[in-house]
Amino acid sequence: MEKKDAKVVVLASNNNHKIKEFREMFPNCTIVSMAEIGFVDEIEETGTTFLENATIKAKAVADFLKKKKITASVVADDSGLCVDALGGRPGVYSARYAGQHDDAANRKKLLEELDGRKDRSAHFECCIVLITPNGECKHVEGRSDGTILTKEVGKNGFGFDSLFFSADLKKSFAEATSQEKNSVSHRARAIEKLKKII
Ligand code: IMP
Repeated sequence: MEKKDAKVVVLASNNNHKIKEFREMFPNCTIVSMAEIGFVDEIEETGTTFLENATIKAKAVADFLKKKKITASVVADDSGLCVDALGGRPGVYSARYAGQHDDAANRKKLLEELDGRKDRSAHFECCIVLITPNGECKHVEGRSDGTILTKEVGKNGFGFDSLFFSADLKKSFAEATSQEKNSVSHRARAIEKLKKII
């Protein structure tokens, strides 16, 4: 990795789907994962809001870069699914909704919790924190609205994609191509704002 390349952005994630989405949306930047900079520690997401968790992740990676004397920006996102009938759950706990990080178990639990419920409205939320090489910390947010389907539809994507019927696309996120999802997703909307400040 080039040490003084201002366009290098370390993404505080090892989620391959997220890394792919960021790379597609930031073609002019070199997006590097935590694993690629040798950051192997587990970052505990102890916050109760998307902003708190994204800040915890970004700061952990920025501190690591400082120690290694690597000049790069850090971007961390925290995102999740907020379901109205569940009072906004699973929210920040989306990844761990059914216990350990298990997308299939999370989808199964969501279908069970919403069984027989009329109100199936939900939205994805994303908060992205940017820490610049000089230590400045900024954040942006994005949201994408939809409803929770009664069964899985589509094979693409990850997490809750096959259960999320997008109000914008009029199909599930798992039926959408990555380009379609990237035109309306919570992360894409936050990234559009990030592009203006990065
Ligand atoms: P994070 O990695 O801590 O931000 O956790 C995000 C969790 O929210 C994921 O594990 C998914 O369960 C869910 N999630 C966030 N964004 C998406 C998305 O774009 N599609 C499907 N599920 C998502």
